[in-house]
Amino acid sequence: MEEAKTSRRIRILRDDVSRKIAAGEVIDRPFSIVREALDNSLDAHARSIDLFLEAGGLSRIRVADDGDGIRAEDLAVCGEAHATSKIESENDLLSVRSLGFRGEALASIASCARLEIVSAVEDGKAWRLLIQGGKRLALEASQGRKGTRMDVSELFYNYPARRKFLKGASSETALCRSAFLDHAVAFPQTSFRLVQDGTLKFFYPAGTHLERVIQAYGDGRSLPMTALEGAGKGFSFLIAASDSGVTRKDRKLLQVFVNGRRVWEYSLVQAMEYGYAGSMPGGSLPVAFLFLTVDPSLVDFNIHPAKKEVRLRVLAEIRHAVIDALRTHLGRISPIAGWSTQDHTDGNAVRFTTPGQGRHALPTEVHHEVHEECLRFPSASREEEAPVVIVAGSSGPSMPFRYLGQAFGVFLVVEHGDRLLFLDQHAAHERIRFDRILASRPAVQELLIPIVFDASQEDADRIGHWIPGLKEFGVGIEESGGGSFQISRLRDDLLPFGEADLVETLQGFRGGVEKLVRQIAARAACHGAVKEGEAVDGDTARRLIAEALRLPDARCPHGRPVWTEIGKDQLYKRVERI
Ligand code: ADP
Ligand code: MG
Repeated sequence: MEEAKTSRRIRILRDDVSRKIAAGEVIDRPFSIVREALDNSLDAHARSIDLFLEAGGLSRIRVADDGDGIRAEDLAVCGEAHATSKIESENDLLSVRSLGFRGEALASIASCARLEIVSAVEDGKAWRLLIQGGKRLALEASQGRKGTRMDVSELFYNYPARRKFLKGASSETALCRSAFLDHAVAFPQTSFRLVQDGTLKFFYPAGTHLERVIQAYGDGRSLPMTALEGAGKGFSFLIAASDSGVTRKDRKLLQVFVNGRRVWEYSLVQAMEYGYAGSMPGGSLPVAFLFLTVDPSLVDFNIHPAKKEVRLRVLAEIRHAVIDALRTHLGRISPIAGWSTQDHTDGNAVRFTTPGQGRHALPTEVHHEVHEECLRFPSASREEEAPVVIVAGSSGPSMPFRYLGQAFGVFLVVEHGDRLLFLDQHAAHERIRFDRILASRPAVQELLIPIVFDASQEDADRIGHWIPGLKEFGVGIEESGGGSFQISRLRDDLLPFGEADLVETLQGFRGGVEKLVRQIAARAACHGAVKEGEAVDGDTARRLIAEALRLPDARCPHGRPVWTEIGKDQLYKRVERI
């Protein structure tokens, strides 16, 4: 104890210790190796990149490209700290266009794993480098075509503390896939392949931004998407924007890329949402990918080791231009400009159109070009496009009714025999959806990116017991080791239900699996139901009323009555009419 106290002195860390700490900042799991390796291949102008993962990258990661390659003399210093070909002085930081520039990735990987690089700047003239634990074990002439192949294995073999934080292979795979997707979406002119444990999972041939977004996130559904271009001083952008009929309930497909990097810049996600505001049914979100190219002197990526954060000097201008581009495209003039929006509903979706569909003039330095293209795209569910969905084949109630209109934004007022009904549109729709979810067995989809979550020991035991029942209901969940779970298959009608909601329901629930299933159905039903304040057109209202009137027990899943009523005689009495 005394020892420990007196030995607390400031010291300069040994080189290998400080390198380990620095390595931990850049490389903390297979995902970060994939990210750095893909960055390097793209910086080397690869036209084609193959990523191979074994056991989610825990056993081996290989990235092979057909890029510029590394010269033998450069390979000799690869893996040393701060070895980079991309910048020389601090000034160059103001003009970097490459994804990497710190010369940290290879050195970090080499210090905590086994790293083998075979690279050639010309066909047949390859060199091979092998480093492990920061020590060079080989540098020799080898065989290979122009380009670079990097193999990483034995990750954290000398770093047991880090190993402990790794998750199961399937969770690490999910993370690696997201790095793969982010790069593939940002660089559509490069073809990408992902091979997982020997099986080719994805192949994206070279194409346009729009095509790549569809390749990466599409499941074969048709959807109109448009590429909108815009520019201002020091920046230009392309937005792959869905038309307003396509809706989602989460922000997963609202993504921002700056100079080829996926960034978490919320204000730009928000700008896209603003651009769509008023064009979308209430509570729903669009699909939009913003690809921004900014003059390197106006952007600083050097604030986060993984370059997830970015500082943009022209953020306000960019936000404006993005909002403008979307609003103009959606044919909607900002209400602030004095235009009124007209509610034009048509059976399926609630849309807003602007009188005359005029396009308003843009500030002079901003211009847009629009390439219309109709592409195939996934929409999370058909129901999302139609705020109110009624079971096919409804034959109507035995007693006719007359729909009188909507009151207080939530009650559908109905004359039914000698009663007036006030039907709560949300409660009614919620109940109808709830019954339908419980009664139906829709198709189950394999999720492109599984939902991964951790559970406490106590929760984990409970969740383990529910697995068979949930599978039958159409929620494929497995334990992936280390107290973490992943949901990799989900029934169609739960896709739009937010993943956070689903995980929250699982984590907080106490009780048997039948009750749990009802709970999930109730939350999903509520989530997708028409909301208070949402405009409902006449046909939709009538179909909703017809179904509600046939409910055997007209209560919402939480037990509230779906409607209340007042009789004709009561009304007569009130006005003292005989
Ligand atoms: P940085 O990318 O920040 O320069 P890295 O540690 O990632 O640092 O890479 C070090 C150097 O190795 C790069 O600057 C580049 O010259 C070279 N390099 C790494 N991977 C590749 C590759 N796939 N193709 C060509 N050169 C590469
Ligand atoms: Mg790099």
